[in-house]
Amino acid sequence: MSVSDGKKPQLADTLAEVGRRVGQAMTDALERARPAFDAVTEVASRPEVRAVFERAEEVLRHRPCLCMCATAHPADYDICETFHAVITGRTNLGAVPNVPIPLCAPCAAARAAREFVG
Ligand SMILES: [Zn+2]
Ligand SMILES: [Zn+2]
Repeated sequence: MSVSDGKKPQLADTLAEVGRRVGQAMTDALERARPAFDAVTEVASRPEVRAVFERAEEVLRHRPCLCMCATAHPADYDICETFHAVITGRTNLGAVPNVPIPLCAPCAAARAAREFVG
């Protein structure tokens, strides 16, 4: 190998070397991120964490019953299925009459019965 050969810019080799280093750096970064990712996956798959997520999903899927039970049907105010509103009823309170509100089935029935009785 002569001195003149060493002076030639070996562009292709340089690019290949840069590419190899970048590739290695990315691989290293991914390898370093993997434990954190695994930890998140591991936590998310734990039964107690899944239970929290499922409970939150259940609450979000169901509308809360906004019946003013103690006022609307005081005789059986404890029948409310608080997070199982299934129909839209109307307020019958003096201050805010006729506003649409979600009601659970027992509350709707109790309200209807009370209205029927008068
Ligand atoms: Zn109610
Ligand atoms: Zn209710």
